[in-house]
Amino acid sequence: VRVEIVAVGTELLLGQIADTNSAWLGEQLAAAGVDSHFHQAVGDNHARIVLALRTALARSDGVIVCGGLGPTQDDITREAIAEVMNVPLVRDEEIVARIASFFVARGRTMSENNARQADVPEGGSVIEQVQGTAPGLICPVGNKVVYAVPGVPYEMAEMFERGILPDLRRRLARSGEESVIVSRVLRTWGTSESALAEALQARIDVLDGPARPEGTVTIAFLASGIEGIKVRLTARARTDDEVVGLLDAEEQAVRAVLAERLGDIVFGLDDETMEQAVAALLVERGLRLGLAESLTGGLICSRLVEVPGASHWLAGGVVAYESAVKHRVLGVPPGPVVTEVAAGAMAQGARTVLGADVGLGITGVAGPDTQEGVAPGAVFVGLALPGDRLVTREFHLPGDRPRVRQYAAISALDLLRRELIDGG
Ligand code: ATP
Ligand code: MG
Repeated sequence: VRVEIVAVGTELLLGQIADTNSAWLGEQLAAAGVDSHFHQAVGDNHARIVLALRTALARSDGVIVCGGLGPTQDDITREAIAEVMNVPLVRDEEIVARIASFFVARGRTMSENNARQADVPEGGSVIEQVQGTAPGLICPVGNKVVYAVPGVPYEMAEMFERGILPDLRRRLARSGEESVIVSRVLRTWGTSESALAEALQARIDVLDGPARPEGTVTIAFLASGIEGIKVRLTARARTDDEVVGLLDAEEQAVRAVLAERLGDIVFGLDDETMEQAVAALLVERGLRLGLAESLTGGLICSRLVEVPGASHWLAGGVVAYESAVKHRVLGVPPGPVVTEVAAGAMAQGARTVLGADVGLGITGVAGPDTQEGVAPGAVFVGLALPGDRLVTREFHLPGDRPRVRQYAAISALDLLRRELIDGG
């Protein structure tokens, strides 16, 4: 099965934005075992989008079009697909209602242009929208297919995973190329994509080499920004059992290499989040956590209460933003408050004030200005652990204020995770 990518948008041709969607999709297709021999970029022009689609369909089994599904007049991808299919666009009233309710929920009214997003080429089906207002499309053309997804990268990625990948897998299965394809994702924190790739290079060489094991497994890296880097294992084989066997063996092999080369960087599998990993360890150890947050302003606490049943292991948190609050409420000794010592004192304060078994304190400089002569991105985390064990750590985190705060939250949770593993 060969799939071609067509990125729609004049801004791509003008170099105003880089075509990161095609790069991402290319990586995903490769990891899924789908060949992709051509990528095209085309402007917001009806005749040229039609030409791009026809060209792609002539030499591939499927096309993924991204962009041009929005509500404005220059968003004409659906019209172009309908022309290629030689069918009319049919307005789906259910989708109109869903888009309208999206607007009502925001206290706005829907314009006629927005209703255009409910137009579906006759014979096509939709990938339901979850975040924005434009649904994706799955449009059969003979025994080939055109998939359309929005241009906004996270909407595109989400729809690819949810709507396109499963459909592609059915096509792969039908083509008899493989019968079962399953992925498993190892989620990591605390290392770079290049370090991961380097650590796993020998393993990847084996998998790609002539002596590769029965069935096939591929390894792909997916940088997920503030949520770390994912290592995705994809296995293909004839039966479910074989695929699970391959994935189990590969997961073990990869975990062993990573543990040896990079330490305890794998915090979860598939959709497991850092806060879930921390929660599971706290439950296992029978410990309650209390927080004292400065620059994260409650972000850590907010992430932790996402986990159902948090009241069993989370006492609560103090948002100690002003220095005086750190001193008065948490008992941080007089003096500077953006230091490792202050973070440690905050952790001990949280443990005492909140009556918890483990206290986590975090302070630092989110930026853009320096504070107490400390540069933005400097973050200090303290952990007050059972047995009066105190651990403190200094981080230097990249990015602007929102990023530093997000990175600070997950870095602190990861430090806690590692200490809980080591300490228990
Ligand atoms: P919208 O409903 O937001 O209008 P759309 O489906 O019409 O979505 P476009 O208008 O083409 O998509 O693109 C929306 C935004 O998504 C662009 O302004 C750009 O920032 C980003 N984008 C579009 N195509 C790409 C691409 N190939 N690579 C990276 N970013 C892209
Ligand atoms: Mg648009």
